[in-house]
Amino acid sequence: MDRAVSGEARAKVAWITGAAGGLGTACAMRLHQAGYALAISDLAMAALEPLVTELSAAGAQVIGIECDVSSSAAVDACGTEITSRLGSLDVLVTCAGILRDNLVHKMSDQDWHEVIGTHLTGTFYCARRAQREMVPQRSGKLIFLSSGASRGNRGQSNYSAAKAGIEGLTRTLAIELGPFGINVNAVAPGFIETPMTQQIAIRTGVPYEEVKRAAAARSSLGRTGKPDDIAAAVAYLASDDASFMTGQVMFIRGAP
Ligand code: NAD
Repeated sequence: MDRAVSGEARAKVAWITGAAGGLGTACAMRLHQAGYALAISDLAMAALEPLVTELSAAGAQVIGIECDVSSSAAVDACGTEITSRLGSLDVLVTCAGILRDNLVHKMSDQDWHEVIGTHLTGTFYCARRAQREMVPQRSGKLIFLSSGASRGNRGQSNYSAAKAGIEGLTRTLAIELGPFGINVNAVAPGFIETPMTQQIAIRTGVPYEEVKRAAAARSSLGRTGKPDDIAAAVAYLASDDASFMTGQVMFIRGAP
């Protein structure tokens, strides 16, 4: 993999949203190993602090920023803080996410709007802010987290619609931003062992081991995913190895 160092040995900068979560943390670790300076953001600074400490101890140049991705103003301010403190913005990885699962007849307006606001609108806000830095520098990588649920999943009309929307955003931004040297791709994980899937067990009252066994049985490879299965793909998409790939959705779900 290419070392993420440009110009006079200044490290390229990756911004990871939802970085306190399972996939965000794994992506931060992996991109640090690939040589990036990191801006990690999440809803609360307290949730980010252990990761900032761990990454700093591992030698990373890292800043933590409190940022609610569903707020346009917060996202714009976060982008400005990143460039003023780290000097540029080269890679965006959108890992912020929530679940508010319910069958359609029980889904409230709030369940719908919170999920669309965090996933779809949040991804749009972050991408719009990031491209403002990337277009003038004529390079950049936008990497969005979609989900296997974009193809439909019982009890997830809000989440599935948001993720399908993210895939449309991926293709459209690839067309708009390609001429400026910016690659736009998405990864669509299946069941990955993170706090998000642990929540499913808590909400349904089914032991997590059982939830994992059922998910593994549904996959072709007979196992659930680990956060690093996704972080490895994100690191590839951020690297020059993926420089001719844009507007694509990589399904990483242990099955077609
Ligand atoms: P997670 O619950 O472990 O982490 C999500 C993080 O997002 C949390 O730290 C949370 O605080 C943060 N967050 C929530 N709302 C936010 C907001 N408004 N602004 C900023 N941060 C916010 O989830 P995860 O499993 O790491 O998932 C990361 C992404 O991958 C999500 O987009 C999720 O939909 C997607 N995904 C996960 C799986 C899986 O099986 N874990 C599968 C498919 C897709």
